[in-house]
Amino acid sequence: MTLSVLLVDDSKFVRKGISKELPIIFGDRELIFSEACNGNEALELLYSTSYDIVFLDLTMPEKNGYEVLQELKEKGIKANIIVLTADIQPESERIVRSLGAVGYMEKQRPLNREALMKVLQEINLL
Ligand SMILES: [Mg+2]
Repeated sequence: MTLSVLLVDDSKFVRKGISKELPIIFGDRELIFSEACNGNEALELLYSTSYDIVFLDLTMPEKNGYEVLQELKEKGIKANIIVLTADIQPESERIVRSLGAVGYMEKQRPLNREALMKVLQEINLL
């Protein structure tokens, strides 16, 4: 079954990194990628389309990841959102999970494949 993935990050290198890594992890599974480079773009897409997985950056222009989560929560829109951030802190994990994120992982260069697989397993996507 096809998996639709939304990549939300203001860095195109990060978006590219995830879109290269996921096909390796998912093997034969067909993946369809959509991308947004700020929170407003992400919300526009999330209001009109549902995705199987959303990777969400926290630090972005226009609307940041916290604001995206907050707005989705207020509107009652549920999504499998994995927060991918360079700024790992217990407090930010607590906040994003309370705002509805289902996963939280550190952004590394290159992306840590095992950490990514672990998060996907935790939410039963792998
Ligand atoms: Mg960023």
